[in-house]
Amino acid sequence: MTAFQSLEKGALLVLNSGSSSVKFTVFAVEPAQNKIAPFFAGQLCEIGTDAKLTAKTEAGEKMAEESWADRDKGGVAPLLPHLISWIESRLPEGMPLLAAGHRVVHGGSGLHHPVMINEHLMKELESLIPLAPLHQPQNTAAIRVLSESRSELPQVACFDTAFHHTQPSTSTTYAIPRELTEAGIRRYGFHGLSYEYISRHLREEMPDLAEGRVVVAHLGNGSSLCALKNGRSYDTTMGFSVLEGVPMGTRCGNLDPGVIIHLMREYKMNVNDLEQLLYHKSGLLGMSGISNDMRALLSSDDPRAKEAVDIFCSRVAKEIARLACAMGGFDALIFTAGIGEHSAPIRSMVCKHLKWLGIELCEESNANRQSRISAENSLPVHVIPTNEELMIAQHTVDLLTMRNAA
Ligand code: ADP
Repeated sequence: MTAFQSLEKGALLVLNSGSSSVKFTVFAVEPAQNKIAPFFAGQLCEIGTDAKLTAKTEAGEKMAEESWADRDKGGVAPLLPHLISWIESRLPEGMPLLAAGHRVVHGGSGLHHPVMINEHLMKELESLIPLAPLHQPQNTAAIRVLSESRSELPQVACFDTAFHHTQPSTSTTYAIPRELTEAGIRRYGFHGLSYEYISRHLREEMPDLAEGRVVVAHLGNGSSLCALKNGRSYDTTMGFSVLEGVPMGTRCGNLDPGVIIHLMREYKMNVNDLEQLLYHKSGLLGMSGISNDMRALLSSDDPRAKEAVDIFCSRVAKEIARLACAMGGFDALIFTAGIGEHSAPIRSMVCKHLKWLGIELCEESNANRQSRISAENSLPVHVIPTNEELMIAQHTVDLLTMRNAA
């Protein structure tokens, strides 16, 4: 991280805007100590039906649990100025809001690093909407609303795709005609801010591993895995969209494209039907018919829940082997995100498939969620909590510092 003594003391707002929710984290910037620390966080959820604001301090004290239904005009955009005012009203004197950092799903083939927002860039981000029609419009709308309501506030966009720009074409190319590849139909990869955080963490805390070949399993509601070679992304499981790879909460993961042709031809499904099916009704929810939440499946006696969990673990293990193959072997496995960090049974079931690759867990360390959970004679397996928000805050501070220095 760059030194940022040139900044004034203040607060940074990190925003992750979805279609019916906005998650936010406010960080305190302490230039004298060169430190960014989480201050409070929360979310506006159920937007469009019955908006609710919840927020907690970093210490876990409740700051808000209130209905915003009377302000809810449908959609995130009209609520954002209220949210910013609410956040500012909670900042102590002498701690102005310095900037906002946004998680933006897609940076296309050209945006490889976080960028300061200006009108030219906004147009570029909006031109990428066709590549991520379910997420990019929410991200860009939030930036537009803030530009209009708080034009003086610097804003930074951080891309989920950017970290993967180091991948070779053997990882990014689909076997389709070259002109389609050149038109942008290629594998981009997502969850890049999470992998970047893990890569930095490895560099700081486990430098030996950072220089090796590491597979990171980001298993959450959305799940993907990444092959890190020398700290850089070499391959990943998500591709052109966030649908590719392992099954997720409600997304299908890898699916023979022939199935889509069949659904269109025989079931007369159109684009909207397919989008609903593959993004919202598949994955753990679709296979189990019970829930998209791993906790609910693990505690269910229903054989469909057990089968969905088994399929998930088997598919994650197969992707670990595939990514190891892409790198010519691997030196460590890292679990992160909601399931990866909190579910010992899933980590255990995944690793049971990988004994032949030299992976074996110490079940006691796994159950107690130690940092290293592998048995002594195994390849190292670690649990590292990810922090995409901190990554966005760091990028935002870096860009503000560079702007001040220019
Ligand atoms: P997102 O992709 O929305 O950021 P998270 O990384 O927060 O998701 O992961 C959320 C998911 O993590 C939940 O849907 C739940 O299935 C899973 N999860 C959280 N805690 C546990 C747990 N203790 N055991 C199993 N699964 C868990």
